[in-house]
Amino acid sequence: MTTSFHPPQRTLMGPGPSDVHPRILEAMCRPTIGHLDPIFVGMMDEMKELLQHAFRTENQMTMPVSAPGSAGMESCFVNLVEPGDKVIVCQNGVFGGRMKENVERCSGTAVMVEDEWGRAVDPQKLEDALKANPDAKLVAFVHAETSTGARSDAKVLVELAHKHGCLTIVDAVTSLGGSEIQVDGWNIDAIYSGTQKCLSCTPGLSPVSFSDAALEKVKNRNSKVQSWFLDLNLVMGYWGSGAKRAYHHTAPINALYGLHEALVMLQDEGLENAWARHDYHHKALKAGLEALGLNFIVPESERLPQLNAVTIPEGVDDAAVRSALLNDYNLEIGAGLGVMAGKVWRIGLMGHACRKENVLKCLSALDDVLGRMGAPVNNGVAVAAAQRTYSE
Ligand code: PLP
Repeated sequence: MTTSFHPPQRTLMGPGPSDVHPRILEAMCRPTIGHLDPIFVGMMDEMKELLQHAFRTENQMTMPVSAPGSAGMESCFVNLVEPGDKVIVCQNGVFGGRMKENVERCSGTAVMVEDEWGRAVDPQKLEDALKANPDAKLVAFVHAETSTGARSDAKVLVELAHKHGCLTIVDAVTSLGGSEIQVDGWNIDAIYSGTQKCLSCTPGLSPVSFSDAALEKVKNRNSKVQSWFLDLNLVMGYWGSGAKRAYHHTAPINALYGLHEALVMLQDEGLENAWARHDYHHKALKAGLEALGLNFIVPESERLPQLNAVTIPEGVDDAAVRSALLNDYNLEIGAGLGVMAGKVWRIGLMGHACRKENVLKCLSALDDVLGRMGAPVNNGVAVAAAQRTYSE
């Protein structure tokens, strides 16, 4: 007979999901109440304020979509792209490719601005594309490209888009809570994120925020949004400001308790402190990985602290290393995605996973596993290099 499922306790240092804080898991076990219960509605109002704080915005339309980051992505595209709209999509990794898919499925035309994987989006290339396509309506790009660990300059890219009369869609799935984001300060029109990365929460929800300019476009569409579930005009009846909180769909109540707790924790830590913590532990991890002899694929000035992509040394069996880390150390690191498959490891330092004990565990486990496999690395020095960084 099948019995209850009991997963092992892993350390999650891949590209997400990352370690969930026990306080969040505990919050999710609280009693389920109705999604229109006045007490739940009060929690929703707090959640909106907490999300506004995390995104640094006053946008009223700031809420979690009841589905993972991909649904937040779709929510931005299906609402803002109308059939025939031209959208400039900057691609420097896997997730820019998904943006193209979204544009095309909304019957829009995607104009691709391609950058090398492992580099930030080049503002000059975007400006050239904007000049060559004066009829473009939107610019979309990934702030933190999880497939490579590259961070693009969202402020500059949004400024350029606005200079040419375009609205902007920004993917912040990996950046929210880990790296600076200023939705109002940078004038971002539509942004989406995920809960399973630097927010230390479980997967399955997607915080989004829309500016007034973006909402104007949604309200004045010529055609219906093709997704009933994601149509903001309808979702606003449940999450919108001053809304009567009428039934739209049954909210994932306990998952929302978890996100509420995660956002309270982020507020208590302080956004700047959370960003600084990611930088601090990244520096120690970097010192250890480089001492071991592993090289980062992203130039230092364009690197995300929460996603460390390093090249796999020549002749090393990628899958065998990751299985040994999982089986011997209960440690998960990420494989390469897309064209990076088999070439890089992606080591996440996200949210609750971003702490000293994880940095040291990961370095000592890699040191052991690579040493045992006879990989061409410098054994016995990685942990000490990280410790030196911590003591500086
Ligand atoms: N965008 C980026 C940059 C991501 O890293 C991810 C997931 O890793 C997504 C979108 C999709 O999010 P989800 O897997 O939660 O649907």
